[in-house]
Amino acid sequence: MPDTAHEKTETPASCMICGGTSFVPLGAHKGHNMFRCTACGFGFVHPMPTGADVAAIYDNYGPSISYTKKAKKKVARSRKRLKRYMHLANGKRFIDLGCNIGTTVEAARELGFDAHGIDIDPESVGAAKRSFPGGKYHAGPIESLPPEWGNFDFAFSTEVIEHIPDPHAYFEALTPRLAPGALLYLTTPDAGHWRVPGNFPDWDQVFPPHHILYFTKDSMTRFLDRHGFDVIRFVWSLKPALKVLARKR
Ligand SMILES: [Zn+2]
Repeated sequence: MPDTAHEKTETPASCMICGGTSFVPLGAHKGHNMFRCTACGFGFVHPMPTGADVAAIYDNYGPSISYTKKAKKKVARSRKRLKRYMHLANGKRFIDLGCNIGTTVEAARELGFDAHGIDIDPESVGAAKRSFPGGKYHAGPIESLPPEWGNFDFAFSTEVIEHIPDPHAYFEALTPRLAPGALLYLTTPDAGHWRVPGNFPDWDQVFPPHHILYFTKDSMTRFLDRHGFDVIRFVWSLKPALKVLARKR
């Protein structure tokens, strides 16, 4: 293969968030090259792993014992977090996207929500059903959300989006299931945070193929706007964590 053809596959064509065509290389991790869009600051792995590649990574994911042991603590932490934002929700139908063993679903249920959880991993969902049977759970991709669950008023998505090769497809499936005015609380690593190391691969949040998208406030605002959300505010964080509250228009 001639060198030029190889180079072509190495450079991204356009930014999936803003359509920008100018990039700076961010270095590589385990053979995955990363780039940052100069227009919106969005960072990403290129070439992007396919959905099948990513699914294969999570085949043996499952709930870890230590995570299960910490479940009680996690319920308490989720309850604290929910209490901070629940006054912004217009209704009681709650969903945790990427619910793992159900600790946030349980916290929401305790606070009076009609609490649901979805996770790609059937083992985690099995553990959730056993540990916290008061919630409703579903194992599968977002596209398989049970229609009988109806639409939601309040959605949590914590540390999920950075794993998804096609976030637009994800939100195209999610957004119709949120009621107008629904509250979204989403967290993901913050690639624009002042504490991200100058040498990007040194950042502890950089581990493709698990983390493949690196949002900034600007790129997240653009992304959410495209999918019909207005940012209410970003929650201040000492750590490089993006925590956004947004409302569906
Ligand atoms: Zn961009």
